[in-house]
Amino acid sequence: MQRILIANRGEIAVRIIRTCREMGIETVAIYSDADREMPYVKQADKAVYVGEPPVQKSYLQAERIIAIAKQEKADAIHPGYGFLSENAGFAKQVIDSGITFIGPRPEIIELMGSKIASRQTMEDAGVPVVPGSNYGLKSLEEACRLADEIGYPVMLKASGGGGGIGMVLCEDEQALVKAYASTKARALTYFGSEEVFVEKYIADARHIEVQIFGDCQGHFVHLFERDCSIQRRNQKVIEESPSPFLSQQVKQRIFETALTAAKAVSYTNAGTIEFIVDEQENFYFLEMNTRLQVEHPVTEMVTGLDLVKWQILVAKGQPLPLLQPEIRAFGHAVEFRLYAEDPVRFLPSPGKITRLNWPAQDGMRIDYGYEEGGSVTPYYDPMIAKCIFYGETRKEALDQASSFFKNLQIEGIKTNSPLFESILSNSDFQKGKYTTNFLAKKFVK
Ligand code: ADP
Ligand code: ADP
Ligand code: MG
Repeated sequence: MQRILIANRGEIAVRIIRTCREMGIETVAIYSDADREMPYVKQADKAVYVGEPPVQKSYLQAERIIAIAKQEKADAIHPGYGFLSENAGFAKQVIDSGITFIGPRPEIIELMGSKIASRQTMEDAGVPVVPGSNYGLKSLEEACRLADEIGYPVMLKASGGGGGIGMVLCEDEQALVKAYASTKARALTYFGSEEVFVEKYIADARHIEVQIFGDCQGHFVHLFERDCSIQRRNQKVIEESPSPFLSQQVKQRIFETALTAAKAVSYTNAGTIEFIVDEQENFYFLEMNTRLQVEHPVTEMVTGLDLVKWQILVAKGQPLPLLQPEIRAFGHAVEFRLYAEDPVRFLPSPGKITRLNWPAQDGMRIDYGYEEGGSVTPYYDPMIAKCIFYGETRKEALDQASSFFKNLQIEGIKTNSPLFESILSNSDFQKGKYTTNFLAKKFVK
């Protein structure tokens, strides 16, 4: 593998370029009109124009991207996360063009892309899933009947959903009746399928996920857990490893369950099994993400491994570099997703970054997408950078983070940095006592 095309943008493109460079692999970036001046475009060995700013005209143009890969003689495509990363049709087209897709097989992407189909697969494999329906709802009457059986509150969810979009919490039947048609319509607009299902709502939950890897020789390993319970709009904002909440016994069981899930579908490459965990530490399968996760750096910090390198090696057909007993985790890592957004109302705040100065800090890693002078445009996810902190203890990592956000100078746009300062000074957060409702309960006015 000599040249990889990166079918993505921003920080994850910068991240992939870094590993490729270390491995002596050339990179081809693609950019829209809105991204000409982005750091990843300058850092790639070559950058090719892909189209106008809207994603349908640029980063979702599967055929054009594959044509660029061929023209540039790329041997492989790395899809990053979001965009085409979980598009089975894209993965298949890439492979059919004789190019390596850095990710799992298209059939697995397709199977896991449907929350409904993956629930059934996991149940068959003996993995506990959230109580709910394993088929698409045919009518509102059916939705109400199932919700009654499950017991309110329930989540009404788009089977093809992602990014926290397409799910509605329904406290009672009245809410379900109100949400039903609009959720289906939204699912169709965003995900191309109006299939929805209901699931029990787990109150005061933790989001715990397990990083797994499989290779083409049939080896499977897990790389421990990440606790991603600090969320807004059902989307992660802070992630850490290890979880300050899970007991050692439950951890072992959740790792084994994640491996069972991976083996059940003969999974290859990097994947994440997401679980929702209740107050009694009962855990249930939520979904599987068949790609590199946004929050993979916390796993890299505690294990000392390079997950992008592992993805490339597995895609080349090589066995996993390490087996389970050789994989260890040390210390504590925590990641903060720095967004160009209003820290109170969580609305995007695009604009020009007139000043940006990352304070120097021990044990710090910044996965940035933008630099001073760059502009956050309204076309894409407004994440500016991921700020990751490592310490021997959780307290040490959080102290690094506090000092960092206090000294961070970023001007021209609103960011959620003030929110991080408040969270870091919250005593429950400091004690590791938080659930997925933490932000909604304490920080939304
Ligand atoms: P992770 O589970 O890796 O944390 P997220 O759910 O935060 O992933 O989503 C990863 C990225 O992809 C984010 O930038 C998010 O906005 C985007 N994304 C994921 N799924 C979708 C989707 N179906 N539609 C639009 N954006 C999505
Ligand atoms: P997405 O594909 O958008 O990532 P997920 O199913 O992974 O959707 O859910 C995203 C988040 O929404 C979870 O981390 C959790 O906070 C919340 N959530 C989803 N399903 C449930 C549920 N059944 N009970 C409680 N919270 C849930
Ligand atoms: Mg998810």
